[in-house]
Amino acid sequence: MSEIKLSNITKLYGSQLAVPGLDLEIPKGSFVTLLGPSGCGKTTTLRMIAGLEQPSSGEVSLAGKPVYSSTTGMFVAPERRGLGFIFQSYALWPNMKVDRNITLALTEAKLPALTVKARLQEALEKVQLTGLEGRYPSELSGGQQQRVAVARLIAARNSILLMDEPLSNLDAKLRTEMRTELKRLHRELGATTVYVTHDQVEALTMSDIIVVMKDGIIQQQGNPYEIYHNPANLFVAEFIGDPKINLFSGVVKRVGGEARLSLCGTELPLPAGMNLSEGPVTVGVRPENIAIHDRPTGAGIAAEVDVVQPTGSQTIISLLLKGQRITVLIPRFENSLPKKNVWIELSFDHINFFDPAGRRIETAQVRQPASHAA
Ligand code: ATP
Repeated sequence: MSEIKLSNITKLYGSQLAVPGLDLEIPKGSFVTLLGPSGCGKTTTLRMIAGLEQPSSGEVSLAGKPVYSSTTGMFVAPERRGLGFIFQSYALWPNMKVDRNITLALTEAKLPALTVKARLQEALEKVQLTGLEGRYPSELSGGQQQRVAVARLIAARNSILLMDEPLSNLDAKLRTEMRTELKRLHRELGATTVYVTHDQVEALTMSDIIVVMKDGIIQQQGNPYEIYHNPANLFVAEFIGDPKINLFSGVVKRVGGEARLSLCGTELPLPAGMNLSEGPVTVGVRPENIAIHDRPTGAGIAAEVDVVQPTGSQTIISLLLKGQRITVLIPRFENSLPKKNVWIELSFDHINFFDPAGRRIETAQVRQPASHAA
């Protein structure tokens, strides 16, 4: 059963339709990320789940019970929905020490003192803050303050956790550490988690399911592998992936029963069994799925090396191909390539075709790693 269910939810701000009818089901215990560019409606959706924002119409259910319905007029207040939140600002009480910040809700709920103490100790241990419970928030680093906010969630033992860009105020190193901690905590607590971010790395690294949104509309919902390797449309293909996916204009032709792809002035035979109709397509190839050769090969397309950027474990190579800039990623450190003139080869095992409306065309080969295979 879904732990969270949104049915045909809309949200109007004045005359602006921020969410034009959204259906979303979030399975119990899953880590679901709402991902999309600024203004796509992620926060509004999260706040409607929380009850901090009232939808204009639709239904919201939590654990099978309705908490909002425009038909019956039902609206359950946020504090009665049994949810835990972390937002961009950690919202710690500056005048309370760490222990009080973590246990305030528990003492207000009149839990026995021994239970409160036990939960405080457990939460402090889980976020590795034991020993700092007597400090005020101002005496902690940004990362430690964030962990106090996480500890507060752990102590409350909510079965649903809502997080809105919780890592965006942290520096890059802390962000990476907290990603690991949040993922580990989710595994340990098993709470249904809805996480809002515009950062694709956070989404790819932590989620069971990513929901990619644009203009309040879900573009694709799937596990990180599906979202990265089988993007539903050009928006998802371009939004996910750094460096960005390469896009080429191509035309599929059939010559004597054989399908061929005309692309960048070259004609390439398409693998047998790829059920593509004739006509214009956009071809999407991720930078790691292009090979570079220093001499012509059968399916090679001539290109010129422009800029070589080593990033440590990988190197980003920017090439010019008939005036079009393309990016190739190689899994090793290179300061430069020996030759300026090279030939690139696209891997047909890792290629996506999009129709003129930008939707991915289902070819015969849909890739799934072993762990996601049926
Ligand atoms: P960000 O990543 O920048 O937080 P978001 O994807 O979370 O963006 P929302 O904050 O949900 O987007 O906003 C969705 C749309 O609704 C935007 O166009 C925004 O301008 C509008 N909006 C959000 N809150 C309000 C408000 N209180 N009043 C009017 N318009 C609003």
